Order: sequence, then structure tokens, then C-alpha cells
Amino acid sequence: MREIPNEPLCEACHRSPATALAWNGEEGWNFVCDCQIEHEQYSIKLSDWESNNPHAKDWTWRKQLRTKTWFDESDFDEMLARYYKARATA
Ligand SMILES: [Zn+2]
Repeated sequence: MREIPNEPLCEACHRSPATALAWNGEEGWNFVCDCQIEHEQYSIKLSDWESNNPHAKDWTWRKQLRTKTWFDESDFDEMLARYYKARATA
């Protein structure tokens, strides 16, 4: 079921629509499908991310992420920029 309009494809396999924003340590943040589930160390389901006002949601997640010592906000922002760009052109 495609819940999100213009879903971008997974950045890892380029085959299936991305379903999560995931952080896997070494490679940082990517938007991915289930193919990365074993590598993810932290992930946010896109259905959760998109389900409310994106800006309010963004703020809620950011507040939570900023409490993590490993959180690299510029890497996260770069991933989000790629995600929204891909979503606009998918
Ligand atoms: Zn994938």
C-alpha cells in the first residue's frame, strides 16, 4: 500500500519505496526500505514522520535526536534534503 504520495525509492537498493529514515552508524542517515533493517541502529518510520504536520513532527523528532550523543544534525539535514528532493521528483 502506498501511503505517501511520490514516495522516493530506497537509497540503498533503489528497488523499493523507502519506508524509514534510518541511521546505521558508519554510513550515517539514509532513507531506506526494509532491506536495511539488520543494519539500522536507529530508525523513524516514514508513516510516523509524515502522519502529522511535518514541521511539528520535525521538531519533536529533532528534540529527541538532539539528546543522542551520536546525533549528527548536519548529516540528518542532508538526508532530509535528499528525501524531500526525491519526493518532489519521484
Ligand atoms: Zn532497500
